[in-house]
Amino acid sequence: MRLSRYFLPVMKETPADAQIVSHQLMLRTGMIKQASAGIYSWLPLGYKVLRRVEQIVHEEQQRAGHIPMLMPTLQSADLWRESGRYDDYGQEMLRIKDRHDRDMLYGPTNEELITDVFRSYVGSYKDLPLTLYHIQWKFRDEIRPRFGVMRGREFLMKDGYNFDLTKEDALHAYNRHLVSYLRTYERMGLQAIPMRADGGPIGGDYTHEFLVLAETGESEVFYDSQITELKFGDRQIDYDSVEQCQGVLEEFTSRYARTDETHDGIIFNNQVPAERQRSARGIEVGQIFYFGTKYSEAMNAVVDDGKGGKVPVHMGSHGIGVSRLLGALIEANHDDKGIIWPEGVTPFHCGIVNLKQGDDEADGACEALYKSLTAMGLEPLYDDRSERAGAKFATMDLIGLPWRITVGPRGLKNGVVELTSRRTGESEELPPEQAVAKIA
Ligand code: ATP
Ligand code: MG
Ligand code: MG
Ligand code: MG
Repeated sequence: MRLSRYFLPVMKETPADAQIVSHQLMLRTGMIKQASAGIYSWLPLGYKVLRRVEQIVHEEQQRAGHIPMLMPTLQSADLWRESGRYDDYGQEMLRIKDRHDRDMLYGPTNEELITDVFRSYVGSYKDLPLTLYHIQWKFRDEIRPRFGVMRGREFLMKDGYNFDLTKEDALHAYNRHLVSYLRTYERMGLQAIPMRADGGPIGGDYTHEFLVLAETGESEVFYDSQITELKFGDRQIDYDSVEQCQGVLEEFTSRYARTDETHDGIIFNNQVPAERQRSARGIEVGQIFYFGTKYSEAMNAVVDDGKGGKVPVHMGSHGIGVSRLLGALIEANHDDKGIIWPEGVTPFHCGIVNLKQGDDEADGACEALYKSLTAMGLEPLYDDRSERAGAKFATMDLIGLPWRITVGPRGLKNGVVELTSRRTGESEELPPEQAVAKIA
């Protein structure tokens, strides 16, 4: 992409209404524009990162054997009356009437809709296990939308639902989700710690929230510092192996890590030596939940069990806050100059800064770099505007691409360009081909 032809409405001033750094930076870099409270337009740069995050979520879900689909945003109230949640959900649900005076709602989540899909087609244990998921916009009329996309009213969520014959099978699905989530967040360059959460009105011990530690997080968390040393890394996992998935769950959840909802000071003190006790703030970027037959019983989602009987299926639901992740990523990756994108989600792989636009040699070298990066499947952002070098550098630092290649007549005389890492700030001079090779 050539910056002269792109749409990147960068702001110099920090917007006064944004309280936290990720919100400020998303506005300043022209990633989002508020449309109304808690509702945003995703401008080209923000949309690009959103798509990259979404892509990683898709890849990791499908790697785990989960099947993508798409359900609508608007739902009929009837299904929610069947499950009993139409009245329970309260004011977070946006209720709408259509022209025929029928009750509709903008989905805050999809348990009812997916259970209806399931029961319409599946009637036998032979079709299980099954996990379906989608990535779709949700609406929750949050009492206090704030922090930009972190607590929006309209937000993008991946929500997946498993259907299993037995509790045991459903717990394997739970573990599979835990593993796939660990991989997902790590690929984005984020550490998200599974913490024991509160089962809410449904109850049960089988729920974990994934939290990214950050001062601006809305959750209070308590944990054993050893947990921050755990990495999933590039180990191989067989998602069909009950033992392997269970092993990962045990490894990542055996140390104390709880949100304030389940925190117990006595257990904390008994289990964790004082020097390893931590309390901090965290951002909830996902949650997994086994809830058994709550919806399948209420909505009659049953299968024949192969022994002549019919049984309600065991279910769980598993969510990732796709749009919230952008805020979490920036909270965890920035400095006073701007964003520092992890390679896994960066909107462009590198920036090219031409120090002397209009100079034949500099322009030619930039074009050649642009071509060879593109030929390698990389996406460069070429700042080809006739701006001062300082302004070009400031924009690149603000939008936070991992690499910057600076091209100017002086370097070109010696056959070199400058390659700068956004994260370390270190620069080196090297021939253009070598700069390209380093980025690839
Ligand atoms: P919170 O505790 O922050 O209100 P939640 O527990 O109500 O979140 P879930 O129902 O678990 O949310 O939804 C799954 C994921 O969707 C959450 O882990 C979070 O990452 C994301 N999410 C929930 N509410 C919002 C929101 N208002 N804006 C952006 N993302 C959200
Ligand atoms: Mg909520
Ligand atoms: Mg929550
Ligand atoms: Mg939650």
